Amino acid sequence: MAQADIKSLSLNELTDEMAVLGLPKYRAEQIFKWLHQKSVCTFDEMSNISTTVREELSNLYYISVANIEKKQVSCYDETVKYLFKLNDGEYVEAVLMSYHHGYTICISTQVGCKMGCTFCATGKSGFSRNLAPSEMLAQIQTAQLDNNIRISNVVLMGMGEPLDNYDNVIKFLSLISSDKGLNIGMRHITLSTCGVVPKIYELAKLKLQITLAVSLHAPRDEIRSKTMPINRKYNLARLIDACFAYSKATGRRITFEYAMIDGVNDSDECAYELARLLKGLMCHINLIPVNNVTGAGYKKSKKDRLNSFSKILESNGITATVRRTLGSDIDASCGQLKRRLTEEKI
Ligand code: SAH
Ligand code: SF4
Repeated sequence: MAQADIKSLSLNELTDEMAVLGLPKYRAEQIFKWLHQKSVCTFDEMSNISTTVREELSNLYYISVANIEKKQVSCYDETVKYLFKLNDGEYVEAVLMSYHHGYTICISTQVGCKMGCTFCATGKSGFSRNLAPSEMLAQIQTAQLDNNIRISNVVLMGMGEPLDNYDNVIKFLSLISSDKGLNIGMRHITLSTCGVVPKIYELAKLKLQITLAVSLHAPRDEIRSKTMPINRKYNLARLIDACFAYSKATGRRITFEYAMIDGVNDSDECAYELARLLKGLMCHINLIPVNNVTGAGYKKSKKDRLNSFSKILESNGITATVRRTLGSDIDASCGQLKRRLTEEKI
């Protein structure tokens, strides 16, 4: 029988499974804390659990890990980019950033991505598999141990589309916010989506206090469908309707990500269209100079474009931030490290 993923079990599920092994509730709680708070990678480290039980556990279960395969530290700021190796040998990336209010980690939710956005390194590399909740947790745990820090904020903005791995992501959110686990509150978590509309409605029903970030990148279907294939399935009108519904159901402001690509989506006309599209929606826009992905042929917008674009949005009542690019020397953007590693290996 294949071993089961013990770190993806909720405390209730773990309690039930341990009861079958004859272990009382407090033992299950101890094991949960070893897995989630002490971040152990082996059952042998669980020093207050008997050797017999530890052996039994290691026969039945495995512990998901994220081992550091490669690490790049920016020389401009404290940004660290990790390439993690998972139990089955797959690779995912995460980026640790230091802000004045604490540490934020950007983690992956899938190995690769099916969505195929033309500007994205992950999208270009195809899809391999979904990550389990435990594998999302493991990325945070390894980064904490490696730097001897507590991470306060998590963004699901690494490789993969979180809403295309919906059930595992929701389970991860409940595990990470458990007071017997990493105890990172929903308000400290951001989930970024390319716009999987039905799942936005499903998420809205849960009324979580997370921040929803929507990768918009264009104010009209004609441009968006060219760069983001998901737009051919769920167009802008449907996406913005879902955003209104989400904001109404949760009372939360939505963040829009807008990668500025020279000559593609950065004209004044685009800015006016964007302002019209988002009129009346509680939102904020992050303008990000697009990161150059080898082979994609996109260039960053010029600085004066970014300034003009954000001024138009502001003068139309939409708050916009030109995002500071962290770790610009280490390709600290989605999928680039893995892509480079696999290209080096070929
Ligand atoms: N799949 C989700 C989350 C992962 S992508 C999503 O698309 O939202 C994380 C963010 O990086 C998204 O906003 C995505 O649009 C952006 N991104 C991807 N490639 C980029 C690039 N080359 N330059 C700037 N932003 C990029
Ligand atoms: Fe997938 Fe997001 Fe990259 Fe698009 S931008 S390919 S949705 S990871």
